[in-house]
Amino acid sequence: MVQGHIKIYQILESKNRKEIQKLISVESKDKKEVILSDKGIDLVKYGAYLYYVNSSVFNEQEFSVFFCNDKYFQKIQSITQELIYFFNGLTDRFKLKIMPIKYNSEIIENNQKYDKVILFSGGLDSLTQTVRSIENREKILLCYTNHNKKVTRNVRNLVSELEKMFKIRLDLVEINYFGIKCKQEKEQGIINSRAVAYALNGIAIADSVNAKEVIIPENGAIATLPKFDISIEPTRTVSPYLMEKIANIAFDLTGIKLSDSLAKETKADVVKTLKDRKKLIHLSYSCTHPNRRDKLKKNNLRDIGHYHCGTCLACFIRMTALLAVGIDENKALYKQMPMDFQTMSEISKYKYKNDFYTLISLLDYCYDILERTKINELNHFIRSTIELNQNSHFSEFEDLDILSLQKSFALDILIGINEYYRKNNLPMQNFVLGKSIKSLLAKFKVRLNNRMKELE
Ligand SMILES: [Zn+2]
Repeated sequence: MVQGHIKIYQILESKNRKEIQKLISVESKDKKEVILSDKGIDLVKYGAYLYYVNSSVFNEQEFSVFFCNDKYFQKIQSITQELIYFFNGLTDRFKLKIMPIKYNSEIIENNQKYDKVILFSGGLDSLTQTVRSIENREKILLCYTNHNKKVTRNVRNLVSELEKMFKIRLDLVEINYFGIKCKQEKEQGIINSRAVAYALNGIAIADSVNAKEVIIPENGAIATLPKFDISIEPTRTVSPYLMEKIANIAFDLTGIKLSDSLAKETKADVVKTLKDRKKLIHLSYSCTHPNRRDKLKKNNLRDIGHYHCGTCLACFIRMTALLAVGIDENKALYKQMPMDFQTMSEISKYKYKNDFYTLISLLDYCYDILERTKINELNHFIRSTIELNQNSHFSEFEDLDILSLQKSFALDILIGINEYYRKNNLPMQNFVLGKSIKSLLAKFKVRLNNRMKELE
């Protein structure tokens, strides 16, 4: 068993409140321990269980997990099985035995200091949500599930900058049991259930501080991005299908509302909010491969810390969204610009060449989604995820037209790539990605122009 798994296993097995609190390690920005409510501990355990099962490489396991609200978790056994099926495709390998436990409840302050808990990852979506909430004078608590030291540093720097910029005090809570990655995650990238575990952590914190709402800030286009390539999992995504289930659990158990106020936007729509806040953008971090990056050596960028790999899907969507709304990011913040690759043989020598297969599939997807007028014209993989999410009742996804949001997303990508070549005066036909989108730009010219006006 790998180290990350051992810690999660200990959390699941433990019957002692003090020990669990220590294993989960919940701290405020100024290193004060945050005491979890009983329901909070249950929810963290439930998320840890789903994550463990999803990332486990072992067969046939029976778990005994101790819950304070054992009757409730007994009641939602079939939902748990549905979630596991969604993650793993198999259910009968894992048996969950729910056991009752009573802790010596800690006293939790009853004052309502916060309206909302915002899941804060240090990326552009959660940053934008935070800026909007600050501007609306909402009393917010940021919640970050620590999964990587380098990212944690970025998150803390970003929070300090927000405090400086808006001249306010911002509270941040860090949950630290995710510190060590499990083996499977290293091999396959990020695992689906992580977003679910993070959401459950946020609800646990909200219940412990008496906040009534938890916001998962994920733009709707990414949350509903279908599996457009066999090799990709819709990563970090807050799939509305999954979130509806988590929202129901949160509400039934705690009365807390789970929502995503960025549901109707693409990444480009979202980052428009940050147009005049360049410093924040530079401190934000989107790359899904923090270990690919090195320290920035250039003096003027040193305060930012680390840079983006540039070629992973998350980096690519970030850079094209910013380009699409005319936000100028320093090229030096990226290790590689995927638009700069000139030939396929150059790509084949690149260490992370698989990234390019994903990016080229993404461009195919953009073409496909712009060509079709109905969901049933799309290929099976794409259609099935869109349909699954289209029927979701989660938050603002309820009446969202996913197909038209995906079309806007596709246009944003094309606008962003085009903008890169235009700005740098580079002839598109000299580059692999440039070549791939040249005919698309001509074909969808009118729609691209309309979308550009929308984004202005
Ligand atoms: Zn990256």
